[in-house]
Amino acid sequence: MNYSFKMPVTVYQEEECIKKHKEVFKECGSRAFIVTGKHSAKACGALKDITDVLEEENIPYDIFDDVENNPSLENVTEASIKAKAFGADFIIGIGGGSPLDASKAVSVLAANDMEPLELFKMNFNKAYPIIAVPTTSGTGSEVTPYSVVLRKDLNTKVSFGNSHTFAKYALLDAKYTASLSRNTTINTAVDAFTHSLEGYLSNRATVLSDALALDAIEKFGSCLKDLVDGNMTMEIREKLMYVSMLGGMVIANTGVTIVHGMGYCYTYFKEIPHGKANGLLVKTYLDHIYKLKKDKIDKVLELLKCESIDELGKYLESLLGQSPKITEEEIDEYTKLTLIQKGSITNTAGNLTEEEIKMLWINNNR
Ligand code: NAP
Ligand code: ZN
Repeated sequence: MNYSFKMPVTVYQEEECIKKHKEVFKECGSRAFIVTGKHSAKACGALKDITDVLEEENIPYDIFDDVENNPSLENVTEASIKAKAFGADFIIGIGGGSPLDASKAVSVLAANDMEPLELFKMNFNKAYPIIAVPTTSGTGSEVTPYSVVLRKDLNTKVSFGNSHTFAKYALLDAKYTASLSRNTTINTAVDAFTHSLEGYLSNRATVLSDALALDAIEKFGSCLKDLVDGNMTMEIREKLMYVSMLGGMVIANTGVTIVHGMGYCYTYFKEIPHGKANGLLVKTYLDHIYKLKKDKIDKVLELLKCESIDELGKYLESLLGQSPKITEEEIDEYTKLTLIQKGSITNTAGNLTEEEIKMLWINNNR
């Protein structure tokens, strides 16, 4: 029963969450900087709900609505320069994982005098308070300390985060996800599932993270048929938002594993959305570690009502399609880049070697 578990984010999930918890905005600061993507925060109504409340509370705000999908270091730096110029003292991230992750980078860069590259050395010990409002149910970024940033100089994505990069509040209202396309709903839901799965199988899993992961996996399983049928009721969306938040709490404590470490290559080179990239690797991953984690994987299959890893693989294929075929040169390059993801490798069962990582890429290419 030895475990530790950190979760400093206050989470509210309910209908009309923003209006019902407008008191949190004043508590976080007096000048708000909103970090969001190009369209979705407007389309789903979250931006208007928030600016209405800020105006009611007489809190001046500025908006950066140019966060890229998979935000680059240049993109978050540009936003942070604007936040500084505005004199912001707290940050509101609205969107999928991309704007939420960007808001963490902005909160650190705006609160400190530092070079953007210093983010990755975690050379900071303060950040502005963050309020996170997710509009996808996938990354759980609202409750993780991680910010995943695209590094053009390294040809991959790199994450940073420490106790200062947790949001102070996460305000969850599933109505914002109603405008998601079927594909993005599926891709992001699969991301939430892989967080719970990888966290459950991580070398850093504990009895407490396992309890959350199993609840998330069971609830994801209860949505699987509806996801396949495209039957997206608000009840299902609420459940998926909960699963995503739970998955975030899990990986905040266990880290992710080789699925995420490899998935970044599909996203970077093949422009495959993050959640889908992970989902395409799940079967190969489970096959590889089955002998080491038999009992846990059998438990996952039972909760998902799947007879075997193959059946789960078929389910995922019906949701996501097939992995892209890559060349031998790409396998070598992806193997090299996967080796940069040291945390993901260390968290994976079985001390993965370079040859094994290459074998995983080969197996996933069959
Ligand atoms: P995303 O990149 O934030 O968004 C994907 C697309 O969905 C964008 O075009 C976005 O539009 C749109 N969208 C978002 N909400 C919508 C809504 N309610 N209605 C309609 N469209 C909507 O996707 P994501 O999968 O949520 O996040 C992926 C990012 O999170 C990756 O960079 C990944 O590495 C990172 N990640 C972070 C963590 C963590 O712990 N921090 C964990 C896993 C993944 P707009 O461009 O207009 O916003
Ligand atoms: Zn993820």
